[in-house]
Amino acid sequence: MQSCSSTGSKDRLIGGVLILTLLVLTGVGLWKTSGRQAPNRIAPDRIAVVRRCRAVMGTDCTLAAVVRPGKEAQAEEVLEKAEAVLRRAEARMSSWLDDSEIGRLNAAGAGQQVPLSPQTLEVLRLARRANVQTGGAFDVTCRPLVELWRSAGECGEVPGRAELAEARAASNWELVELGDSGVTKLKATARVDLGGIAKGWAVDRAVDVLRRAELSGGMVDVGGDLVCFGAPPEGESWPVDVQHPLGPGHLATLRLPSGAVCTSGGYARFIEIGGKRYSHIIDPRTRRPAEAALSVTVVAADAVTADIWATALSVLGPEGLKQLPDGVEAMMMVGTEEDHKMLCTPGFHDLLEEPLAERLTVWEANVE
Ligand code: AMP
Ligand code: MG
Repeated sequence: MQSCSSTGSKDRLIGGVLILTLLVLTGVGLWKTSGRQAPNRIAPDRIAVVRRCRAVMGTDCTLAAVVRPGKEAQAEEVLEKAEAVLRRAEARMSSWLDDSEIGRLNAAGAGQQVPLSPQTLEVLRLARRANVQTGGAFDVTCRPLVELWRSAGECGEVPGRAELAEARAASNWELVELGDSGVTKLKATARVDLGGIAKGWAVDRAVDVLRRAELSGGMVDVGGDLVCFGAPPEGESWPVDVQHPLGPGHLATLRLPSGAVCTSGGYARFIEIGGKRYSHIIDPRTRRPAEAALSVTVVAADAVTADIWATALSVLGPEGLKQLPDGVEAMMMVGTEEDHKMLCTPGFHDLLEEPLAERLTVWEANVE
C-alpha cells in the first residue's frame, strides 16, 4: 500500500475543542482545530484521529475515526486499512490505468470474455441499473465521447457531427455483456469509464471498514464524495460545507447525522475551447458536454447512489429532480456564471444550516 505524503500524515486532534469543516468539491477535506485543549474544560470523551492522503483516485482524501481517548493506535490501524481499500478500488477500476481491470477491458477485442473481480462486476452492474433508472443520462459506456472531448480540449477544436456520431456508435450498453465472472464486448470499440461511480462505491467500501471497527463515528471524504456516520468529534451531527462553485467560500453548510454527500460540477474539472468552458460530464443524448447545471450536490444513504445521481442530474438538470428515488435529495445551481439560480428538494432544504450564500428556491414535485 502506498503511504501518505508528508501533508498526508496522521494528525491527532482533540475532539473537545475541534471545529470540523469538510470542504466538499475541492477534493480537500480540511479539519480545522483550535490546536490546544482549552483550560478548565472537562476531558473529552471522544477524539478524532484524522488521516489525510494524496493522490487517491486522482484527488486527495481525508479519513477520520472518532474514538474514546486511548484508542488512537487502533483508529490509525483502521484508517490505514480503509485507505488501502480506496487504493485497491482505484487499481481495479480506473480507466486511466492500462493495467487496471477496466484498462484491460477497454483494450480487449470483441468476443472474448475478460475476467473481472466481483467488485468491478458489481460496480458495472450498478452502473447498468443506473443507466435504466436515469433514462440513459448516466452512461458509463460513453467513454469514447469522454476521450473525444478530452482531446478536443487539447487541440482546441469542437468535434464535428460525424466524429460525435462515430464515438457514440462505438460504445453503448448493447455492446457490453456482463457475465458472472467477466465481461464480453460485442465490438472491440466498446469502452467504459467508471469515473462517475467508482469513487462513491469505494468510499462506501472504506466506510464499511470503519463501521466494522468499534468506533464512535467515522468519515471518509474522497475529493468531495463523502460519507459520515455515528458520533462526530463534537456535537450531534456532522457539518459538511459545500464549496461555492463560482468562487471562494461556501455555498452552504449541511448538517448530517449520517449519510453520503456527493457533488458534481463542470467548474472543478472542465475543458476550454475558444474561451468557452465545457463540462467533463457528457450528455449521452446530445453527445456534447452537459450544460444543465453548474453544480449538483446530492445527499443519499450511501455514496454510490449520491455519486450516480450527482452525475445524472448534471445531465438532466431540474427535470431530473422528478426522477429522484426516495431518500435521495439534491441541490443544484443552474444558469450561467453571470445569471444563475439555486434549486433544492424539500428534504435537502431541511438539512441546510442558515445563512446560505445564495437565494434558494425549494423545488416541489407538484409545482411546475
Ligand atoms: P462525477 O465527477 O462523479 O460527476 O463523474 C464525472 C466522470 O464520469 C467524468 O469525468 C467521466 O469520467 C464520467 N462520465 C462523464 N459523463 C458521464 C455520464 N453521462 N454518465 C456516467 N459517467 C460519465
Ligand atoms: Mg458521480
